[in-house]
Amino acid sequence: MTTELVLLGTAGAPMPVAGRAGISSALIADGRVFVIDCGRGAPSAFADAGLDFTRLEAVFLSHLHADHTGDLPGLLLYPWGVRTGGHGPLAPIRVYGPSRPAMLPAGDAIFHRVTTIHPELPAPGTADLVQHILAGYAYHLNVMPLDARMPDAGELVRGIDIAVPARTDGTTQAPAVVFDDGAVRVTAVAVRHGRAVPALAYRFDTADGSVVFSGDTSVNDDLIALAQGAGILVHHVADLGYLRRHGTGDAELDRMAALHTDVSEVGGVAERAGVGELILSHYLPAEPDAITGEEWASRAGKGFSGRTTAGHDGLRRRLGA
Ligand SMILES: [Zn+2]
Repeated sequence: MTTELVLLGTAGAPMPVAGRAGISSALIADGRVFVIDCGRGAPSAFADAGLDFTRLEAVFLSHLHADHTGDLPGLLLYPWGVRTGGHGPLAPIRVYGPSRPAMLPAGDAIFHRVTTIHPELPAPGTADLVQHILAGYAYHLNVMPLDARMPDAGELVRGIDIAVPARTDGTTQAPAVVFDDGAVRVTAVAVRHGRAVPALAYRFDTADGSVVFSGDTSVNDDLIALAQGAGILVHHVADLGYLRRHGTGDAELDRMAALHTDVSEVGGVAERAGVGELILSHYLPAEPDAITGEEWASRAGKGFSGRTTAGHDGLRRRLGA
């Protein structure tokens, strides 16, 4: 077996920046492709990495902010034409992710919405998202097959909500088994990313080793437990001090500290998890020239006895190599 990690995009936050694509990663196990998050540019990065759209099996969404989901429609719809084989349409691409939250999160005096969009379903989950993508692109899906040979649109995709274990304070969560076919096992825990509930971290295990994807989270014991002993931890990182120096206000920074893991904290997370390598991704600030890779790695690696790597778009790691 061979298992390889590819970082498709490493930028955090929705705002496009030059020179870095939005957050997305891929794990390739014996040619089968699993995509984790689907930010800006993911379909192009998938092609740039030489990955095979006929081998895309599943997408795993950490949470439903647009920087993690915005290019999901393209990842499903652009390669639709090749999703066919000698025996008809390929198996549907499965999109796993958070379910609807139990209730629409409320705001507070400082941060709140003015208009509630789509009040009849204001916090759609992953299965809802996929259904709404199909609904929004029904024209393409219903009309394109009249002018080109296309596989049955009904077999293109399935959206699947992940039931995360209920949080019980003081004890670590038992990870939910999301996917397990004997060769690839995917487990998930809920993490804390502000009001984005549920938000998930994922662990992939194959015979070659283990990779954990933090998603977006503040420092979290459940993530550390999930990542125990993994070969690679792909962790998002923020430099809140940089953002303060560049004009982000106190109220917003306080909120961001509850949303993100600071560069001063992430090495401690990797050390407590006992992983082999910490690979940084989902940078805040996202601009590649704001902070060099060397600086990110040296600051993030403090307190971590393993290897720290500043991830970049296109970075590849062969597991077990
Ligand atoms: Zn994010």
